[in-house]
Amino acid sequence: MTLKKEDVAAYASQMIAASDAEHKMPKSGSSYDRRLKKIIKTLGSEIPDSNVNFKIYVDKTPNASASPDGSIRINTGLFDIMTDDEVLFVLGHELGHYIDGDTVDKMKASLIASAVLKATTAVAENVGGNAGTIVALTRGQAGELLKRFTESQFSQKQEYDADKYGYQMMLRLHKDPRAAMTGLSKLSNYSSLTAVIAMASHPATSDRVAAIERMIEGKEDPKKKSSDDNDGNTFGVSDGG
Ligand SMILES: [Zn+2]
Repeated sequence: MTLKKEDVAAYASQMIAASDAEHKMPKSGSSYDRRLKKIIKTLGSEIPDSNVNFKIYVDKTPNASASPDGSIRINTGLFDIMTDDEVLFVLGHELGHYIDGDTVDKMKASLIASAVLKATTAVAENVGGNAGTIVALTRGQAGELLKRFTESQFSQKQEYDADKYGYQMMLRLHKDPRAAMTGLSKLSNYSSLTAVIAMASHPATSDRVAAIERMIEGKEDPKKKSSDDNDGNTFGVSDGG
């Protein structure tokens, strides 16, 4: 079964529309909104294309996510614990997932695993066939897809590479890359408290902090992609970034 990138993005935008409808967002002009606008301005030409869009969800869990349609969503909880430069690094990490196509992989896995593609044979036949025949998802289908997408993880390699992308982006923007370390450390403190992020297949946040430290010390080349692993997309908890 072949899923075209555009088809994946079209389903993703339906999924995100359902997600946006479910979440409360801070008011325009609120401190969250003002901080995000400032950070987006700093990103400038680092925003790779016009599909990329940012929104904030009122949610105390410090998390951010990227989707293959270019939607990046950031929880207020992340703004609550991080400085603007730390949030900037997280957005760089998410842009890395988007640019590398990691989000397409994750979305494909979610689509294949969900009932969406099985719902009608017509859909299945169109996948890899005629692009542009995207079936409108029901509310239930969009919800199921969102749940699978949220619960599925990136591979360890994808996480390390997204960190490398974010790290290099900080350097390009002439920002202190140590914000990557301090930001991730805060997530680490949070996750140990809640014990949500305990998946063995996922890189521990402390390992990610150590990798950033090696980049800062010049012991690890941020331009070199991480070595392969085979853990693929496993279903588990969300990655905290
Ligand atoms: Zn990530």
